[in-house]
Amino acid sequence: MAASDFSRLIAAAADTIAAHAEELTALDQAIGDGDHGLNMQRGFEAVRAEADAFAAKSLPDALTAVGTKLVMTVGGASGPLFGTLFMALGRELPPAPDRAALTAALGKAIEAVSARGKSQPGQKTMLDVLQPVYEALAQGKAGTEIAEAADRAADATVPMKALRGRASFLGERSIGHMDAGARSTALLVRAVAETVEGF
Ligand code: ADP
Ligand code: MG
Repeated sequence: MAASDFSRLIAAAADTIAAHAEELTALDQAIGDGDHGLNMQRGFEAVRAEADAFAAKSLPDALTAVGTKLVMTVGGASGPLFGTLFMALGRELPPAPDRAALTAALGKAIEAVSARGKSQPGQKTMLDVLQPVYEALAQGKAGTEIAEAADRAADATVPMKALRGRASFLGERSIGHMDAGARSTALLVRAVAETVEGF
């Protein structure tokens, strides 16, 4: 990926998180502590501030740098988890990945998030978006279809009962609200799908 493409990717991710920060806050207020919008915005603005330096690196090193920055700046439960996602992608991806390499790397990155969070899909977390995105990628779906699959997957967390994270403290009362981290993950997936050519 050219440096200018990686810069555009960072801008698109930071823009969509900023544009939806209030929505993410409201989702986290319903079944968490209401910090998810600010957490994500702080993290992605910190990444944006270093976009040029990151974009000058190879794709694996750039993703590792993004993950490290997110761990340091997002905070909450989601900071280490999104950080792990990006750092694992950096570890697993070759410098110029094709679709197969991207799919394999995302699979490994999901395993890393799952291990870090001691969580699985079906527990009303970001993994409930990441896993369907992986499956859509593996099935060769186009970028727009993958973005739609991510949105549907975030919607599908509404009827779930939270079994991990703060929302799990609410038990049955977590049912009926979308998971904030699932929503932010779907926003990031759409930003990637709309920015990266041929995704
Ligand atoms: P906190 O829960 O510490 O306030 P955030 O509000 O920033 O942190 O992030 C909450 C989101 O993190 C949840 O909506 C969920 O998607 C995700 N999350 C929390 N715990 C886990 C976990 N163990 N595994 C996967 N995702 C998790
Ligand atoms: Mg929170």
